[in-house]
Amino acid sequence: MILAFKQTRLPLFLTAAAVVFQSSAMAGPAAEVPAYRNRKLGVEVRVADLLRRLTQAEKFSLLALDSNSNPKLLNLPPIDRLGIPSLRTTDAPEGIRDGPATNFPMGIVMTSTWNPGLIGEVGSAIADEAKIRDREVLYGPTVNMLRSPQDGRYFENFSEDPFLTSKIAVAYVEGVQHEGVAASVKHFICNDQEFDRHRINVLVDERALHEIYLPPFKACVQQGHVWSLMDAFNKVNGTFMSEDKPLETGLLKDTWNWDGLLISDWGAIHDTVAAANAGTDVEMPSPSYFAPAALTLVLSAGQVTQAQIDDKVRRVLRLMVRTHMLDGPEHAPASIPVIPAHAALALKVAQEGIVLLKNEGCVLPLDRNKIRTIAVIGPNAASTQLGGRLSANVPAFYTVDVAEGINSMCGPHVHVSFAQGCPRFAPSTPEELAEAVELAKRSDVAVVVVGTDSTFEGEELDAANLSLPGDQNKLIQAIAEVNKRTIVVLNSGTPEDMSPWIAHVPGVLEAWYSGQETGTAVADILFGYTNPSGKLTGTQAMNREDYADWGNYPGSNDTLNYAEGIYLGYRHFDKDHIAPRFPFGFGLSYTTFAYSKLSVRKQIATGSPVSVRFAVENTGKRAGDEIVQVYVKPIAPAVDRPLRELKGFQRVSVPAGKSVAVQITLAPDSFAYWDVATHAWKTDPGVYAIDMGASSRDIRQSALVHLVK
Ligand code: BGC
Repeated sequence: MILAFKQTRLPLFLTAAAVVFQSSAMAGPAAEVPAYRNRKLGVEVRVADLLRRLTQAEKFSLLALDSNSNPKLLNLPPIDRLGIPSLRTTDAPEGIRDGPATNFPMGIVMTSTWNPGLIGEVGSAIADEAKIRDREVLYGPTVNMLRSPQDGRYFENFSEDPFLTSKIAVAYVEGVQHEGVAASVKHFICNDQEFDRHRINVLVDERALHEIYLPPFKACVQQGHVWSLMDAFNKVNGTFMSEDKPLETGLLKDTWNWDGLLISDWGAIHDTVAAANAGTDVEMPSPSYFAPAALTLVLSAGQVTQAQIDDKVRRVLRLMVRTHMLDGPEHAPASIPVIPAHAALALKVAQEGIVLLKNEGCVLPLDRNKIRTIAVIGPNAASTQLGGRLSANVPAFYTVDVAEGINSMCGPHVHVSFAQGCPRFAPSTPEELAEAVELAKRSDVAVVVVGTDSTFEGEELDAANLSLPGDQNKLIQAIAEVNKRTIVVLNSGTPEDMSPWIAHVPGVLEAWYSGQETGTAVADILFGYTNPSGKLTGTQAMNREDYADWGNYPGSNDTLNYAEGIYLGYRHFDKDHIAPRFPFGFGLSYTTFAYSKLSVRKQIATGSPVSVRFAVENTGKRAGDEIVQVYVKPIAPAVDRPLRELKGFQRVSVPAGKSVAVQITLAPDSFAYWDVATHAWKTDPGVYAIDMGASSRDIRQSALVHLVK
């Protein structure tokens, strides 16, 4: 975290009101400071004062961004008369789009750390950079669900599990807002694929909505106190999200009591009256349905009330007060410098988030003193990708490629050579392939870095399939045939089909898009300077048809049925007894952990928190971090319920040979399900197993707890 060191300047539009503020702030009596500028007053008092001063035209001007179609200029116009500067927003799920900026690992890598504290630091760092660029609102985090492995924004999202997503999202939001910058959590709701996103009608049942898709937003609202959210483009059960009054006003604003600002996605409003009445507050990217003329018309026709308009404006003003926009002179946006602490943070997230998927015969870690030659091969080896098409695109200060990372790790000790082997998408030439095979043959180790880029998957672009494009499968097979110590590093945004080669390679690292320090982090892990500890946040299947969305992706005739209901991700694999290739929560380490001494009270009153205690012992020779997971499994439930659901987790650092005592408290709602009869959460008394383990399929200890009335 750095202190903002922005240059300051007086706004060009400095006016009477602001001048009063300037002089009174220095010497004058407090009475001269207009209430809306008085920092000592409460938020609502300031908001009410400013609202009173606005003309109708000024109010309207605050209800649509004015981008001039430039996504880097998504701002509200200033109100010069009152000295209100322009409210400026930017995309920023993994760094400031309006960079160059620190390029942090994508959301899926952040979440694979299972380390909310660390991700809170990322939020703060991104907000620091936003302040330098003079941005008040950051569009992010993206907390839609990993429903389809082909979702173009798979890597931008966090997880297939709502509990894990919520924990990471809340930490991120708190980190951002701690710096006085607003997070805008997106996309509310069920924007879980990119195909047909502007029109698709998602059919989702009530239980799935409340148990799977809404919880991250609810947590951001109720625990993270997020200041803004963004509507999704799609329809849910027949209604465009920007027009969904029961979800926006009914649930979000009334039931959850949220006083924040709801911004539409880019052009996601289709009707002035419907959107205004539903609860959408501000139109993106520019005034159209919320243009002054349109709003005047619907107001005079009585289709929208002045109270509704005022409520929307109040939400804008509240955000302005919260982000200290009205507190002092405006700052000029400056270029973001390279901030070493942020670069170090980006590296730490990659080190903690990259997942070791396979390590047969302990092929890893590599020993720098024993290896003489290493071949670094593949289209993403010397051109490591950061992903992020369109709004997740963070122009990085620099990227450390995997080849570069390995090279600097090895120094003069090891001879490192590179061959591309094949292009990313086009077929390889026989010469290219032969060169790579020759190199692998005469090297002690071959590291093959394969994957995709932002032309293959990203915003508005689902992955065509889960196959590595071009001749990359062929390349891995050919290398594995000549070198027994072949390690595959995956640098892509969706889970890849590994069936053509997984049985033939001893080592696999899932790096996804790990940000500007990907190469350093991968090299650290390959050589054991970092003991891998990341764990998967989404199940990886043996076959495409094993995923829950199969048969209901990508939809047809603008309709997409979430027929699996609550059975998404591991919930689905468990229910249908499908063996995943790599389960949810899975990840290897260079050490081993033993779990013991699980203790839970046998009988607890329904509605109380449950304390789970156990010990984790590092039974290997290296210090390491283990991500311990606690699942709740209802025994003989009265209603249909998933086999087990994640309700607690912790990352624990355990020195070699030592044991650490862990205590995880399960919140009272850990046992609840959404009851469709009463439209409310319900916890049934009864017996539940507390399953504690290293992944959703590696339960090490289990204890029964009896919830009594
Ligand atoms: C994306 C949003 C993004 C917005 C502004 C939309 O197309 O879906 O995630 O924040 O553009 O760039």
